Amino acid sequence: MDGVNFYSKDEIWYDLNSAPEVDDHKMQVLIVKALSTLDPNIVDKVCAKVIFVSLNEASWGIYINHNSVRYKNKDFILLSPKIYEFDESEQIRIVLHEVAHFILRHKTLLDYEDNSQYDRNEEEADKLVIQWQGIYHKHNP
Ligand SMILES: [Zn+2]
Repeated sequence: MDGVNFYSKDEIWYDLNSAPEVDDHKMQVLIVKALSTLDPNIVDKVCAKVIFVSLNEASWGIYINHNSVRYKNKDFILLSPKIYEFDESEQIRIVLHEVAHFILRHKTLLDYEDNSQYDRNEEEADKLVIQWQGIYHKHNP
């Protein structure tokens, strides 16, 4: 159970249909790069269920659960060019953090009535990203 066969960036680019709703090539490349560090089973789920969209302002990234949007039962991850303020490893971490909200089936930010639940979910997402990055670095030292 040692071999994780990570997808190549080309495979993800193809599966994701190059994230057509993201109107920023640099961001499309970043999304593919971030996803290429994940177990292929997770990438498959993301490609099937998540639509990445460009965001103009506010937050660096926002996760929107499919219960909040009536669109083909899809979840959304909105990403802002504001994340270019950070170095690349942090940009990747931000993308993976939003993916973690999806994998953990969290609610959309606006749907929390309770701040402590929100904080717990943020922490849970951050922990999952650390776990993913540990697995990736073990296989790609
Ligand atoms: Zn978050």
